[in-house]
Amino acid sequence: MPELPEVELVKQELAPVVNLTITDVVLSNYIYKGHAAGKRTIVKDDLKSFIDIVTGKMIAHIGRRGKYLYFLISDEFQTTHIVSHLGMSGAYFIVSDFDDIKEANFKKHWQVIFTLNNGQKLVYSDIRRFGEMHTHDSLHDFPPFARMAPEYTDEFSRTHFLQTLRSKKFAEKPVKAAIMDGEVIPGVGNIYAAESLYLAHILPTKKVKNISDKRLSELFERITEVFELSLSRGGSTISDYRSVTGGKGEMQHSFKVYQQDKCPLGHELKTKVINTRNTFYCTTCQR
Ligand SMILES: [Zn+2]
Repeated sequence: MPELPEVELVKQELAPVVNLTITDVVLSNYIYKGHAAGKRTIVKDDLKSFIDIVTGKMIAHIGRRGKYLYFLISDEFQTTHIVSHLGMSGAYFIVSDFDDIKEANFKKHWQVIFTLNNGQKLVYSDIRRFGEMHTHDSLHDFPPFARMAPEYTDEFSRTHFLQTLRSKKFAEKPVKAAIMDGEVIPGVGNIYAAESLYLAHILPTKKVKNISDKRLSELFERITEVFELSLSRGGSTISDYRSVTGGKGEMQHSFKVYQQDKCPLGHELKTKVINTRNTFYCTTCQR
């Protein structure tokens, strides 16, 4: 699943579509079938109103909050937003021709095609279809944004991180589950949680209340360090993540513990399921 660095890189790579107008929207049969079965596959709005709202609007800005992208779109009469989550395997492509998408799997699983006024297409593909897309006039109306902690780059992020972890809600939780909660810090998923906990020498299973302020502060540092390193390496490509140009990131070659057998010091790693996700850790390096 793409985490903050991967979504940030997608946002940056989508910059060429800013100031272009969406002239047409086509939705896949998977979406139509899902909606007919009452499942609201990918597009969470009513399909006809989604198409009506989006068509004819200019993409004025693309932003990111946590693992969500949002497109500010407007015409003379209305300004609104498309909020987009890549789920497990969502990917965007900007192409002149649909056949320019090189990988068969992404080509086969296209879900939304936005035609742009320069003749290019912005294609959203999603193999496993856990992604989501919906429109919101105000981003304040979208509950996950209302609850989300400041971005790690925000000056109040560290204070918010420490204060929130000291609240009752998180005291008894394993620290790994806590840092994967967007109310604590946005955008940490399974990979960067395991990596940052290793670098901070903290066991992922340890309860938050049993970790000192100093160590939690250190953990915050390691999370930002891992994010920055991943951004500089083009993100992690585990299975389905692709950049907008179809490229793969290199961060997976820098993993210390995620999907590894041994830690960098040569100790055998343990794995354990925390909050339904498998985690990797070293019982020698992490306490
Ligand atoms: Zn170790």
